[in-house]
Amino acid sequence: MSKQRELGLDRPITRRDFIQGVAVPVGASLVVPGWVQSLHAAQSFAPEQADDYYPPSRSGMRGSHDGSFEVGHQLRDQRGWDFSGATDTGERYDLVVVGGGISGLAATHFFVKHLGRNARVLILDNHDDFGGHAKRNEFEYNGRTLALNGGTLNIESPERYNQPSQELLEDVGIDLDRFLSNNTDSRQMYRRMGLGGAYFFDKETWGADRRVRGGGGGGGRGYDEAFVSQTPLSAEARRDMLRLYGSTHPDYLPGLSSAEKKARLATMSYTNFLLEVVKVDPQVLWFIQSTGAGSFVTGIDTLPALFAWEMGQPGFNGMDLEPTPDGMLANLPGGHHGRQRPGRGAVHFPDGNATLTRLIVRGLLPDAVPGSTQEDVGTTRVDYAKLDRPGQPARVRLNSTVVRVRHTGAGASEEVEVSYVRGGRTSHVRGRHVVMACWNMIIPYLVPELPASQKAALAYGVKAPLVYTSVAVKNWTAFEKLGLSRVSSPTMYHARVGLDEAVSLGDLRHAEDPSEPIVLSLGRYPVTPGLPRKEQYRLGREDLLRTPFTTFEEKIRDQLNRVLGDGDFDAARDIIAITVNRWPHGYSYTYNSLTDPLDWVYTASAERPCVVGRQPFGSITIANSDAAASPHTDAAIGEAHRAIQEVLQRRAMPAVAQPTARRPSNSQ
Ligand SMILES: Cc1cc2nc3c(=O)[nH]c(=O)nc-3n(C[C@H](O)[C@H](O)[C@H](O)COP(=O)(O)OP(=O)(O)OC[C@H]3O[C@@H](n4cnc5c(N)ncnc54)[C@H](O)[C@@H]3O)c2cc1C
Repeated sequence: MSKQRELGLDRPITRRDFIQGVAVPVGASLVVPGWVQSLHAAQSFAPEQADDYYPPSRSGMRGSHDGSFEVGHQLRDQRGWDFSGATDTGERYDLVVVGGGISGLAATHFFVKHLGRNARVLILDNHDDFGGHAKRNEFEYNGRTLALNGGTLNIESPERYNQPSQELLEDVGIDLDRFLSNNTDSRQMYRRMGLGGAYFFDKETWGADRRVRGGGGGGGRGYDEAFVSQTPLSAEARRDMLRLYGSTHPDYLPGLSSAEKKARLATMSYTNFLLEVVKVDPQVLWFIQSTGAGSFVTGIDTLPALFAWEMGQPGFNGMDLEPTPDGMLANLPGGHHGRQRPGRGAVHFPDGNATLTRLIVRGLLPDAVPGSTQEDVGTTRVDYAKLDRPGQPARVRLNSTVVRVRHTGAGASEEVEVSYVRGGRTSHVRGRHVVMACWNMIIPYLVPELPASQKAALAYGVKAPLVYTSVAVKNWTAFEKLGLSRVSSPTMYHARVGLDEAVSLGDLRHAEDPSEPIVLSLGRYPVTPGLPRKEQYRLGREDLLRTPFTTFEEKIRDQLNRVLGDGDFDAARDIIAITVNRWPHGYSYTYNSLTDPLDWVYTASAERPCVVGRQPFGSITIANSDAAASPHTDAAIGEAHRAIQEVLQRRAMPAVAQPTARRPSNSQ
């Protein structure tokens, strides 16, 4: 109990849990709002109409929140759905979009842009907020609004964005140059203050807690004698650290051409390269084990050595490998390696790419997202009650899990019936076309009439699980005192903790003084080194779904106290609120040369499951980032654009766009 008190687990913080979009306040002292009771009494499920319906400010367990996944998992487990009692809403749309993430929103944008504002579109999403992974976490403290991305962090390498993505950014009013020039000074603020990175060696791994400032810095700058001598590494490991990062290496594969060496490195893990080829002491791996986690959610045991080379990791400088032309792999559908050395870098709005999703929705539904500029969306309060009203060009229906999509009718009267569960009730709507902008692996369950080969291709990938946690704190004086802006802790519950990037968007101002409140960003990648990559993803997903918020809270408080305690951080006193964004189905599966064929990784081969899986099927087309086997925002937008082109093609020339072989055989 005293440990719990010390961590502040007995202290009230902002935290409410939500079931199917309905708030269930935690703690006996809180009163159930009247609207919840009246909703149940009326048996009508319309939580979005409540005045206090504002998901960005919900804390506790978010991301795939309770209430968002149960119907999907039930559909998977019982392999079908009971449609007795389902009702037809009578709604007819030109387009129904399954999934309200960046891809679904972008698809709607492109469709409405082409057909005009008379087009009728319905977006269905199982979460209580739109945006998919690109969610916003918002906090209020002492009259200040704070925000952080709950998922998608950056517009990454924008100069490499595909054409539809560039077009979309421009259409919705995003001006990255203006944002960057408004934030030129602030982005340097931590550096000006002398704050930098550190490593935290945890006592569970090293026998005693120790924080060492320095190290890291991309490509190992900073792993010098001064840094290494402060670490708890053995003498051999220190020597090997300096050799690995600081020396010219021999050619470890002499006598082979550059192409032959690359082929070898593509099928060797970076762990094996370091241990068996470079022969470093195993302790050295502690620093490097999470390399690739941010991009691939893998440890180095499932990271091909060739990817590590592309990422600028050490050990290869004597091998005379021919450099990959800058950006060549960046837009290769099927992989997202090659993004590791971004050109202009990444652009981070305070709430990440939620700024983008809010601006797309503003373009579709101006009343729901008031304002007119990129800057004013920073503090705009979305009016969720206005997302789903009759007579709008687009409607966004949240808290609605699609359970079946099937063709009905034939010839000119062919339609697609879309069935979804909302508030426990199953309903049908009809669309002339449907875009599946959800996740590939659920599509075979939703569209049972798909050919078996296409279902197998859609089921091929396993999405990577990860957690972004936002912790709102009253001040960041501990970071200032300790000279820190971020701390890596590879063997702790969260592998990193840091201050949010110092950027502002309009009146959404970042903290300029350490006495001001701020949101800390923490990352967790639940990997199980040694197992096959897909197995690690499945185990990680189970872990995320099983772990209650209380466990996260305890781990977070303990970690922050240990990492920052000597800077006078006190979790019990300083934490305002915690939002755990758990993404059991996170990044799209990307091809990896340790387990997938090389041409899937390095060419745009049509054999790749993402290509086989994304073929249009009757009036159903497939968007979403899985369709590119790339988890980037511009992949999600590019696939949305392609899917809408397929829809428009079929609208314009149905006979040509619908080869007989791909016509659904069992339409009814
Ligand atoms: C933590 C995290 C950080 C990221 N950071 C970056 C980054 O910095 N830069 C970058 O470019 N990319 C990043 N990504 C990847 C990027 O977010 C995605 O590529 C992109 O947002 C995917 O968009 P999407 O619409 O295809 O999928 P999603 O965002 O997953 O949206 C799909 C939506 O469909 C819904 N859905 C699924 N099944 C159903 C159903 N049966 N009925 C109704 N709805 C359903 C899902 O719940 C979801 O809301 C990140 C991803 C994560 C998870």
